[in-house]
Amino acid sequence: MALIVQKFGGTSVGSVERIEQVAAKVKKFRDNGDDIVVVVSAMSGETNRLIDLAKQISDQPVARELDVMVSTGEQVTIALLAMALIKIGVPAVSYTGSQVRILTDSAHTKARILQIDSQQIHKELKAGRVVVVAGFQGVDEAGNITTLGRGGSDTTGVALAAALKADECQIYTDVDGVYTTDPRVVAKAQRLDKITFEEMLEMASLGSKVLQIRAVEFAGKYSVPLRVLHSFQEGPGTLITLDEEESMEQPIISGIAFNRDEAKLTIRGVPDTPGVAFKILGPISSANVEVDMIVQNVAHDNTTDFTFTVHRNDYHNALQVLEGIARDMGAREVIGDVDIAKVSIVGVGMRSHAGVASRMFEALAKENINIQMISTSEIKVSVVIEEKYLELAVRALHTAFELDAPAGKGD
Ligand code: ASP
Ligand code: MG
Repeated sequence: MALIVQKFGGTSVGSVERIEQVAAKVKKFRDNGDDIVVVVSAMSGETNRLIDLAKQISDQPVARELDVMVSTGEQVTIALLAMALIKIGVPAVSYTGSQVRILTDSAHTKARILQIDSQQIHKELKAGRVVVVAGFQGVDEAGNITTLGRGGSDTTGVALAAALKADECQIYTDVDGVYTTDPRVVAKAQRLDKITFEEMLEMASLGSKVLQIRAVEFAGKYSVPLRVLHSFQEGPGTLITLDEEESMEQPIISGIAFNRDEAKLTIRGVPDTPGVAFKILGPISSANVEVDMIVQNVAHDNTTDFTFTVHRNDYHNALQVLEGIARDMGAREVIGDVDIAKVSIVGVGMRSHAGVASRMFEALAKENINIQMISTSEIKVSVVIEEKYLELAVRALHTAFELDAPAGKGD
């Protein structure tokens, strides 16, 4: 008998019929003898609808009141799911975040969980009930309702699993697992049976949106075995774990991530003196713009070129700041480029294999794709390329690193 925390996202509870399907699924586990705690999101679209309402009153709704309101989305689904369970003979009870006492700090709309009181839940489980808990919400020391940031129900699920010392946290969603890359780009992408937390974090931060990043961090920190599964299809899903077992068949690269969310800025002909990087990036960071990749060229004629990438949303802001810096420093010019994309290969196998980066560059060279920037970490190599070659690059790399599904599979 296991204790399992199951989290169902907005589309999985998007209608009464779906909620009844979820109840049937939970019942199956119950009938197996497992103890089940279910965490649910609001019905899909509901959180957006509520935020919209608030925005009709004010562009900048008071954060405390926004939390009081958006937390109702999850309050509806916990009650509906508990009703659906009871209707099919499964004793169940719903709890809001504050009723459990998911204690958070007071940072409304982006609160962090400080502590979870698991006593009441254990009591309910002991009494034979399925406990349905509202995702995305908590309560601060003073009793104010808080929310954890968009997509926060994943974090609730993982945090509850950690607090309850659950055997597994299952995240049910509209895909059947984590893939080697986006199947919409590569038809031969494959579902991964396993991926490590570290790899998953890289994949998630690079745009694979299966799980909220904070939830993955949390699961890694507390060693909560996490599994991503399809809500309404059978299958093993993808297990996210700590262990990096190396087997002969294990590919060196686990996945290929990409994103189109970045823009590139170059400041050319900067006098090359100590402190250049700080003089350029200091004001950028003061403007609250986060920098991702950075390249500084070797100086010739006592000047240097400095290139970095930022999120596209920050592009105009960064460009303005950079133009000011260029004037102050007497730089030659500033060039911006939004038509770029970042492609990354990710895999813990890189630690024990040499030549992974050059294999990547070779695959891109064969397709005549020019690499504009490169950055590496222990388990990742990223390149910036022209955006129009993105899909070609991802497909070429997927093949080069032997991630393609065997013929007949994956289409
Ligand atoms: N309902 C919240 C949102 O839409 C939380 C979640 O779905 O995880 O962001
Ligand atoms: Mg979600």
